[in-house]
Amino acid sequence: MSKSARAACVVGWPVRHSRSPLIHGHWIKQYNLDAAYRREEIAPEAFADFIIRLAERGYVGANITIPHKEGALAMSEPDDRARAVGAANTLWYDSGRLLSTNTDVEGFTANLDACVPDWDKCAGDAVVLGAGGSARAVVYGLIERGIAKINVVNRTPERAAVLQARFGQAIQPANEAALPHLLARAALVVNTTSLGMTGQPPLAIDLAPLPRHAVVADLVYAPLETPLLAAARARGLATADGLGMLLHQAVRGFQLWFGVRPEVTPQLHALVETDLIK
Ligand code: NAP
Repeated sequence: MSKSARAACVVGWPVRHSRSPLIHGHWIKQYNLDAAYRREEIAPEAFADFIIRLAERGYVGANITIPHKEGALAMSEPDDRARAVGAANTLWYDSGRLLSTNTDVEGFTANLDACVPDWDKCAGDAVVLGAGGSARAVVYGLIERGIAKINVVNRTPERAAVLQARFGQAIQPANEAALPHLLARAALVVNTTSLGMTGQPPLAIDLAPLPRHAVVADLVYAPLETPLLAAARARGLATADGLGMLLHQAVRGFQLWFGVRPEVTPQLHALVETDLIK
């Protein structure tokens, strides 16, 4: 790497767990670029100063992770996606202006496109389980792709109602008791809760009522094959895993910072999968 190399980073607190350096490092090598991607562990009280001096520190942009995504939104000029989701995870400069987006939105839909082409053409509603931060990105992605009815089921019903207030009448808050009926009419089910993640309780949901053409997506990527995805595959349903979303959400930042649109390949998927089970 030369002194004039373009550099980006992931900013978080903590940031050790982030797989972004592995993903971007793989692409930098693959495309033989004079570039660098680093971890920056920045405490909340130091975040504003870090971002104000991002370019001075030699960065052309950054990924932002917990707990700084709202702060990054406030300190940049967000696009429609970041504004709608209420959080920014990717920053870059354009003519000296610090712009931002939320790439979880396209990460979610691009992964579905790659796993199940035409998933959005199937007749039926969507069922989104969970109403936290990632549910906002998922719901916005579904709205962008024209899904007319999105049933949101969450442990805390008030949070599903907040999503409806934010995104409009396409969102239908529903309770768990209605799931069998909702699944029978669904073309897509997405788990955005942390249930099923290593160390968390499993997601207890019976997929039997789903039609045969339904697609099941899980945002959880540790383990890669969650009990939900295993149950869907056992029923012969098409699936999209959380690691695919994580990889697809990284594409846009890399392109903005380094000028190459990278590919999400089976090799990259395997590389990160191996790292996850270490
Ligand atoms: P979050 O904002 O904290 O939301 C967590 C959601 O899970 C809420 O809806 C919460 O319900 C629900 N939940 C948690 N524990 C529960 C339990 N015991 N029973 C029922 N519901 C429960 O988290 P997030 O940022 O949305 O992330 C959620 C998951 O998505 C995490 O596993 C994260 O790693 C994953 N994720 C993956 C990607 C990717 O690229 N693949 C991107 C973002 C997130 P309440 O509202 O009732 O608390």
